[in-house]
Amino acid sequence: MKSSTKSSSILALSGGIGGAKLALGLTHVMRSEKLMIVGNIGDDFEHYGLQISPDLDTLMYTLSGKADSEKGWGLADESWVFMQALEKLGGDTWFQLGDTDLATHLERTRRLREGESLSAITVDFCRRFGIESSIIPVSNDPVPTIVKTPEGDLAFQDYFVREGCKPTVTGFRFQGADEAEPNPELLETLRNPLLQAVVICPSNPFLSIDPILAFPAVREALRNCHAPVIAVSPIIDGDAVKGPTAKIFDQLGYPVCATAVANHYRDFIDGFILDIQDSALVSQINKMGISVELANTLMTDLNVKTELARSVLDFSERCAKRNLSL
Ligand code: GDP
Repeated sequence: MKSSTKSSSILALSGGIGGAKLALGLTHVMRSEKLMIVGNIGDDFEHYGLQISPDLDTLMYTLSGKADSEKGWGLADESWVFMQALEKLGGDTWFQLGDTDLATHLERTRRLREGESLSAITVDFCRRFGIESSIIPVSNDPVPTIVKTPEGDLAFQDYFVREGCKPTVTGFRFQGADEAEPNPELLETLRNPLLQAVVICPSNPFLSIDPILAFPAVREALRNCHAPVIAVSPIIDGDAVKGPTAKIFDQLGYPVCATAVANHYRDFIDGFILDIQDSALVSQINKMGISVELANTLMTDLNVKTELARSVLDFSERCAKRNLSL
């Protein structure tokens, strides 16, 4: 397995769609082999006997330029013959698996059963997809996200896809995170003196980033990291760009506001990137002891992704200098 620990200078923590957009931007403003992306595995599950890792695949498809840019997940120019045949047989079709995408899950499942780690398989898939950055799962152990609701616990994909995020959420559990082993490459990278910055992508804080932070050693390493940790808000002007982020903040009793995102990460971030529409919030976030940068964070096309990535890197350099002078 290719080890990138020694050479990674930017580490990004990411979920699927929002995180992958910024990760793609980063590959356009730095040497992509210097970028390591840690993917969320809380969404992973077994379906039809296949091991599915939705966020790792979204990252892999996006960074290789093969993603369906409309949907944000899955592959472009996908066909759905398998799903149509399954439906005719009365099978479960609530989780959509495209024909080409199926190959990823089949091959991942076969190799996991033969004893290979999820990390090694992901690194190899990325190489075959022509991706120069490293995408690694936060752990090789399964740590599934469990959604707590007034009616009881739900497996993540039952909540997210089968029930379309309709149940009211009262909290989350990351099953087994205390005992699971975080990816050693991630911990080594966080301790590496050559690391220049950690970027918390604009992903869902509860569903995409918290499952990574749930590993006590990861959170601890982030708190002790010498490099600046910069988060980009997934909430713009009091709403999420996509998905249930805003609804979850509200249901858990937090204001739907970028300030609440900064507050969520305040024990380990040095800097926070706010959308230009949220300039009124700068002083509130500064009061938490967090530096703030304003940028256009609505990544509607590759130019904005690239510009935002450049702002993240410039801002992280300024935060690093500021940390040194303190
Ligand atoms: P998922 O795992 O596929 O749900 O993906 P993520 O957790 O990575 O992304 C979902 C989050 O990304 C939501 O909270 C969105 O508000 C956020 N998001 C999506 N696109 C953008 C964007 O262009 N800009 C910003 N700032 N946030 C975005």
